[in-house]
Parts: sequence; structure tokens; C-alpha cells
Amino acid sequence: MKDRSLLRRAVAKPQIAVAVGQACRRTQRHDPAVLRGRPMRRFSLASLLKEAVDGHQGWGRQWRAPDPKPAYDVVIVGGGGHGLATAYYLATVHGITNVAVLEKGWIGGGNTGRNTTIIRSNYLYDESAHLYEHALKLWEGLSQELNYNVMFSQRGVLMLAHNAHDVQSFKRHVYANRLNGIDNEWLSAEECKAFCPPLDISPDVRYPVVGGALQRRAGTARHDAVAWGYARGADARGVDIIQNCEVTGVRRDASGAATGVETTRGFIRAGRIGVVAAGNTSRVMAMADVRMPLESYPLQALVSEPVKPVFPCVVMSNAVHAYISQSDKGELVIGAGTDQYTSYSQQGGLHITTHTLDAICEIFPQFTRMRMLRSWGGIVDVTPDRSPIIGRTPVDNLFVNCGWGTGGFKATPGSGHVFAHTLATGQPHPINAPFTLDRFRTGRLIDEAAAAAVAH
Ligand SMILES: Cc1cc2nc3c(=O)[nH]c(=O)nc-3n(C[C@H](O)[C@H](O)[C@H](O)COP(=O)(O)OP(=O)(O)OC[C@H]3O[C@@H](n4cnc5c(N)ncnc54)[C@H](O)[C@@H]3O)c2cc1C
Repeated sequence: MKDRSLLRRAVAKPQIAVAVGQACRRTQRHDPAVLRGRPMRRFSLASLLKEAVDGHQGWGRQWRAPDPKPAYDVVIVGGGGHGLATAYYLATVHGITNVAVLEKGWIGGGNTGRNTTIIRSNYLYDESAHLYEHALKLWEGLSQELNYNVMFSQRGVLMLAHNAHDVQSFKRHVYANRLNGIDNEWLSAEECKAFCPPLDISPDVRYPVVGGALQRRAGTARHDAVAWGYARGADARGVDIIQNCEVTGVRRDASGAATGVETTRGFIRAGRIGVVAAGNTSRVMAMADVRMPLESYPLQALVSEPVKPVFPCVVMSNAVHAYISQSDKGELVIGAGTDQYTSYSQQGGLHITTHTLDAICEIFPQFTRMRMLRSWGGIVDVTPDRSPIIGRTPVDNLFVNCGWGTGGFKATPGSGHVFAHTLATGQPHPINAPFTLDRFRTGRLIDEAAAAAVAH
């Protein structure tokens, strides 16, 4: 349509005829067959200015759409942020590029593109604090590393305390985090209000705010950009990202070792297989006869109509069960809880979202008249201790990265980084060494649920 109007105007203005010719040449450049094997185009001020002049028609595809090869050194099941990050670090840190990421739908279409994007590292136990802080440090340089703007915004995450138990628990977090070199500070109710002006701290409400723990380096990022940035970076180094390719079986040899995966696009042989399938992990691992200590629940989120910037940070409240931030588009991004029963339906109960909205209106009465625009759900994979599982499985050549439950987006870079190490070397990275599958047999749990009861 745009080219046709250009053509009409070109009759009157000869310089536009040149533009029409350029547009046709660009269309040829966008053909995936033409693009295959081309080096990744870098984003820079110079390329942005050039495209601004050219009408942003020349950016091209950001990653290829290859057919699966018969065999790879590593096959990753699941094209969410964690799977794509794993592929990226396999290529960049370990030089392993004969890698395929198999995604049954579209990349980032699982929980990666459905979450409320809260990023923080103020977990209680040393093991978790090291893991999430490793991720947070990678977040801090991620846009530069990927040459892709993941819109990481360190606007601060404020966790509200409403009672004596909250105060004790959050102060314990503050001290534990500081001992681990992680920023976290205690604020009085008035300091909370100064940091987040829309907050109602009047004492005569059902759950008065009595203080809060603030991690200033925490914040949000644009979730689908994270998937796209890792996909682009991995693809440029030779990783095949194969969408619409569902894994339907895991083939094992006589010794029991995994040798490849059956897919909707045929059998693919693999030296090593990494399963990173979030809510579907139990299903994929069952294909290799491995029973996982996981339960899959729908978790919901919702956004309001867009409004002017009114909300400067992220606020979470466990006691009232609500958390909220504002997106760059202006929508209030609100996270709800999980359903109380397991399910693979990517939608949850209406009563869960209405309960959350009740809680939001309790803490921010000025939002009572806002209209909600849309809601959705994702399937989260929850372990008994609410900590992830990253490592080997009882099946040789089969590795798993799962159990991130309601809070794995924040871990994406760190999770991919340590899982790539595990896949490349066959051994855990020191940071993921405690997060074994067999801790549920040995009892060495990392019980963040009991420590904090914080979902995200
Ligand atoms: C509503 C909601 C809010 C959340 N809020 C936060 C938050 O604020 N902060 C936070 O840190 N975390 C949050 N989370 C959790 C976070 O989104 C996840 O922990 C994280 O995104 C998991 O990433 P992933 O790459 O492992 O999974 P996914 O992004 O789900 O990727 C797994 C992929 O595997 C694919 N797959 C599954 N089975 C197969 C198969 N058989 N063959 C091929 N592919 C397959 C799926 O299609 C999917 O794309 C939230 C989650 C939800 C649902």
C-alpha cells in the first residue's frame, strides 16, 4: 500500500521514483533466503539516523527461520527467555554453536512474554541471593551486551510491610542481603510514601503500611525484547532457532542415555538435551520417563487502560497480595496470584483477578476508577521449596532447567549463563550447584517459600 502511494506520487516528483526503486530493492533484501548467512546488523546512532532518513524500511529480519538439521551438539527444548539465553551463552562463552532451540509455538510466547517483568535479587538464602544477583549484574549490562534495548529500568522495587511479622521478615532480608553485598534498605512508612507518592499510608485502613524494604537496583525490563535480543544474538552466532517445532518424544539408547528428540518436524539427534519448558517441563521429562517434583498452575496478570506517568516504581505487598508497576505505554501492570488447583489452561479464575484488584484499590484508592484493558495467564512450574532446578537428571545427556514458578523472569540472564556452563561441561556452575534435582531426595532444600512467601 505504501509503495503504491509512493508510485502515484513518483509520477509527479522524480526524486520519489528513486525512493520506489529503493523500496523494491529492500523488499528483496527481506527475503529470508537472501538474508540467510548475512552477518547481524548492529544497532547504533548512525544506523538509527540512516533508517530515520530511509523511513525505517531497511532493518531486515533479526533472526533466520532455518529448517532443522538431522543432528546438533546441543538441543534446547523451549524457546523462552531461559532457553534462548542458554543458547546465546553456549555460543558466546563456550564456543558451542551447533545448537538448536526448539519451540512449539513462537519464541517468548510462553511465560517469558506473559509476566509482569519484576526484576530483583533480594532473596533470603545465600544460594538464591547469589543466583539472582548473578542475574541482576548481567541485566545491568544486557542491552549493551546484546546490542538490543531490553529496556531494563532500575526504578526500584518496594516491598510493603503491614504487620509485625512482615517487619521482622523484611528486616531479616535487608540484613542478609547486605551481608551478601546486595543492596536492600528499610524504609519507614513516610519514606515509602516519599518514594512512591500514590501510596496510601493512612493508619485507618485494613492493612496499614508500617514500612517497607526497598531494593533500588531492582526494577523491570521489556520481556519480549529479552527473548528477541537473545534470539538475535544466538542466531548471529549460528544457533538455529526453530519455531513451530514441538518435541513429542525423547529417544534413548540401550544404556538409557538420551540420544535425541522426536518432533513434529522429524527426529533430531542431539549430543546433549536441555529441557527449559517451564510449565510443560513435567510433560517433556515424562517423555524420558523422569518424574519431576513439579506442579503446574495458571498464574494471571492484567493491565489497565494507559494513563500518564503516575507510578514511579514497583510496589509489592504480600499481606494484601498485590503488586503493581507502570509500563512505558502507560498501562498499570498488575500481577495476580496462582489458581488453587493445577491446570494447563493459560487462563485463570476470575475470582483471582478480582481479589487482586480489591487489594490494589486498598493500597492505592485513586486507582478504583481505572478500567482494566486485558488479562491473561501463563502456566508456571512450581517446586516444593519454590526454588528452581538446574542441572543433570538421572538420564545421561538429559539436563533440565525448570521450577522457576512465579518468579523466573528476573533470573533469565543468570539462569541461561549457568545452564550453558552445565550443558557445555557436564558439571554445575558453582552458582547452580545447590539447585539439584536430588535435593528433594536428600532434603537439602532452599526453602524460599517458607522464607518469604513472596511470589515474584
Ligand atoms: C502472569 C505471570 C507473571 C509473572 N511475573 C513475573 C515477574 O514479575 N517477575 C519474574 O521474575 N517472573 C515472573 N513470572 C515468571 C516468569 O515469567 C517465568 O519464570 C519465566 O518467564 C520462565 O521462563 P522460561 O524461558 O523458562 O519459560 P517460557 O517462557 O514459558 O518458555 C518455555 C517454552 O517452552 C515451550 N515448550 C513447552 N513444551 C514444549 C515442547 N514439548 N516442545 C517445544 N517447546 C515447548 C513453550 O511453548 C514456551 O515457549 C511470571 C509468570 C506469569 C505467568
